[in-house]
Amino acid sequence: MRQFASSGAACRARPPWPGRLSLARSLPPLKHSRRPGARALAMGTDSAGPPRAATPPRAGRRRLLLGGVAGVAAGMMGATWWPEDGWSNPCLAGLPPDLARHELLQAAWSGVDASRVWDMHCHIAGTGDGDSGIAVHPDLFSHAHPLQFAQRLFYMDGACAAAPGNSVDTAYVARLRHLLDEFPAGARAVLLAFERFHDTAGRALPERSTFFVPNEHVRRVAQAHPQRFAWAASIHPYREDCAEAVAAAAARGALLVKWLPAAQGMDPAAPACDAFYAAMVRADLPLLVHCGEERAVHGGGTQDYGNPLRLRRALEHGVRVIVAHCASLGSDRDLDQGGVERPSFELFARLMQDARHEGQLFGDISAVTQINRCAQVFPRLLQQSDWHHRLLNGSDYPLPGILPLFSLRRLQGMGLLPDTALPVLSRLRAHNALLFDFVLKRTLAQGGQRFPASVFETARVLARPARPEAQT
Ligand SMILES: [Zn+2]
Repeated sequence: MRQFASSGAACRARPPWPGRLSLARSLPPLKHSRRPGARALAMGTDSAGPPRAATPPRAGRRRLLLGGVAGVAAGMMGATWWPEDGWSNPCLAGLPPDLARHELLQAAWSGVDASRVWDMHCHIAGTGDGDSGIAVHPDLFSHAHPLQFAQRLFYMDGACAAAPGNSVDTAYVARLRHLLDEFPAGARAVLLAFERFHDTAGRALPERSTFFVPNEHVRRVAQAHPQRFAWAASIHPYREDCAEAVAAAAARGALLVKWLPAAQGMDPAAPACDAFYAAMVRADLPLLVHCGEERAVHGGGTQDYGNPLRLRRALEHGVRVIVAHCASLGSDRDLDQGGVERPSFELFARLMQDARHEGQLFGDISAVTQINRCAQVFPRLLQQSDWHHRLLNGSDYPLPGILPLFSLRRLQGMGLLPDTALPVLSRLRAHNALLFDFVLKRTLAQGGQRFPASVFETARVLARPARPEAQT
């Protein structure tokens, strides 16, 4: 496999950037500053309905601001790379017929049972300007924190939710529904709630929480559109009532529970998690855990908690565990060998190779195609066919809509993507970031090896026996 020294995404022990976590730090540092033919942004997004064919003045200013903030952030970090499709998502409306019928899309759906395609890693976000109960840390609105400020702009831009005059919370969901309606019938997204940071006494600490997306909001959104959405709870194991919360989430139709230990402050290896684990086993819910370095959400100073090896406690308790992104970013201490730093992915791979975890440990392939990921990971996942029945697709939406996070040219240069696919995928992304993510991952191949349909048919793992939903 050809290596990409300029990608900045080799499996090094530590990232080259100083400072705290931020989405902006996810922008890859490359060697030269060149702005290849920036595309005109001809269309904008209306917040509460389908996108419309004009860029509102405020949306135009937002894009300028986004570019400016990104430029400043990149400059602060010494980054001199310019994304091939620009900084801002054009948020175009429905797929043009020629694109919808394109043979690349036909091939992507060939042999796939769309009714079992459940995107199992899809974030719900917003700013809390609706009745969602979403909370965002004030730093993300503060010019005194330019990287966090840029992070919020990128999220909302990627989700086409930064529209003027309407609730961002509502616009976020409206755009997501629009994107899913362009999928074949039956395809769904599992919407993720996001728990607050908690201290070891089980108290929520808003001042250390970047985001809070309540379970109840996500459940309501999913319940309102069950043909397209399912939902996942986020429950802190240090909560005194965590066992009851897990049981209630399961009764209300949650398909899994999501943790982000580096931002939420739970240590998966702590005995304090045992009651939670027991409840997860009783409810037969899988636990989706972010492992490896976390850059998208500011941490609670607990980055080590994302070490894949710390999940052994959950596995020993019999919990089914899904490692988000296959731990494809950053490094962790090798707890088996004196704490030496190793790529987090290597530690994830060690767990996967342990025969005791067969049928119990899975990896989600969301975000593994991003430019900031270790270049060796995606080809390894493709070639490791004995893992494929344990890999599950998710998009990590809205990240596929954040243009600087992807480089199709890099994937083409690695021999994973044919030249002819680039313009099609680039067009597709401008219209539908979720479909872009699906078609991209179905198209990527090395030596004729692609991910089988089963990686995308995640219902085989996530589907729960039909049961009447508890009244609320
Ligand atoms: Zn995520």
